[in-house]
Amino acid sequence: MKSLLKTFKMGGVHPLENKERTAGLPIERFAAPKKAAIPLSMHLGAPCEPIVKKGESVRTGQKIADSDKAVSAPIHASITGTVKAIEHFNHPLGPRVRSIIIEGDGTDTWIEGVEPSLFDKDAPCEVDFSKSAEFLSKIREAGIVGMGGATFPTHIKLSPPPDKKIDTLILNGAECEPYLTADHVLMLERPRSILLGMRIMQEILKVQNVIISIENNKPDAVEAMRKAAEGYADVTIAVCQTRYPEGGEKQLINAVLGREVPSGKLPMEVGSVVQNVGTAFAVYEAVALHKPLIERVLTVTGPAIRHPKNLLARIGTPFKDILNYCGYEDQENNKVIMGGPMMGKAQKYLDVPVVKGTSGILGITAAEVVVMEHRPCIRCGQCVQACPMGLNPTLLAASVENEDMDDLLKNGLMDCMECGACAFICPSQRQLVHWIAVGKMRVKR
Ligand code: SF4
Ligand code: SF4
Repeated sequence: MKSLLKTFKMGGVHPLENKERTAGLPIERFAAPKKAAIPLSMHLGAPCEPIVKKGESVRTGQKIADSDKAVSAPIHASITGTVKAIEHFNHPLGPRVRSIIIEGDGTDTWIEGVEPSLFDKDAPCEVDFSKSAEFLSKIREAGIVGMGGATFPTHIKLSPPPDKKIDTLILNGAECEPYLTADHVLMLERPRSILLGMRIMQEILKVQNVIISIENNKPDAVEAMRKAAEGYADVTIAVCQTRYPEGGEKQLINAVLGREVPSGKLPMEVGSVVQNVGTAFAVYEAVALHKPLIERVLTVTGPAIRHPKNLLARIGTPFKDILNYCGYEDQENNKVIMGGPMMGKAQKYLDVPVVKGTSGILGITAAEVVVMEHRPCIRCGQCVQACPMGLNPTLLAASVENEDMDDLLKNGLMDCMECGACAFICPSQRQLVHWIAVGKMRVKR
């Protein structure tokens, strides 16, 4: 086992980390909700179609929706009860989405073959590697998606086309978003499960080189993963500098391998696959414990939260239940954000459900909410220096404002990962990411 200290070469910023309120807190299981709204779209790719009907009884873990499209991931009941409706419901990522509404009967009866008493232990079962031919279909059937927030179906990411030779699997434990500590505590409490999930993915990809990358603000997680990886000569722990957005896929590849993913291309182009540590954990649970993705770890924190926590919550749990439990001060002009402050989405409705990509819920007080003034650009160039993708954010934003679509594409609009580093650094508080996102929507139309 080797150790490295790495970082990406272009751009980046240093926002306040604000992780101390939850970094030392254990994962607490949040009670299954009485009613769960489960969106048919909470992954990148085609939405699912329901395979249950209104009035039907469902058990926890039962598949309730699927799709025959290549890029999609099935969806499972997160509670036991009755399907009350299949209708459009509020969604934390924007417009209302067709959802399966389950009213719980309070029994939490799991599907056969799943033993819930094993869930609270680290790696309670060994993985049967003689059955590796089944791994990929088990991951698909369990509805596993990228748990870092990207929600790309994991089985697709683990199936690169035959002409793309993959030599390295990178496990992403950077968790560079301020406030969030869900991955951090998962590495502390479930290091062996994560490692076994990584071995499963390594077996599927048939790669020799495996790197676990963690920012150096989490020395205890580095130690936990290092201990779990003892005896595995092919595993490298890469301790990265704390610098935002270290956990971006392309930044991480650049940091630990020195490779650059070309514009418009995916990591497989440079022989690598990146998976989040939460995804590795979900992969382990799917393969070893036959558990579909019906819950996830998320951080609930921020200045408007009296009792910050790292919670294990069911998909479909209303934000407002979690916020009430954690003492959210629901006052006028306070804000709730899904995810971190850099890339998260502000919420209009608090009945929105936890989805597969909910890594955190932030409560921000009105005093901390910065109302962007959007003053004229002073041509300082700080946004250009901060951009980890080598883009010119002020030029992109101006092209959108001027509706100059040709220029937008020429200047790399689609390479922007909406990390927010440019808007964070801008002294004129220009809403650069907002304009870039608007530009992307116009291009896709
Ligand atoms: S939001 Fe886009 S343009 Fe702005 S810094 Fe990030 S990648 Fe660059
Ligand atoms: S950081 Fe802001 S003010 Fe400076 S060049 Fe970029 S957009 Fe203009």
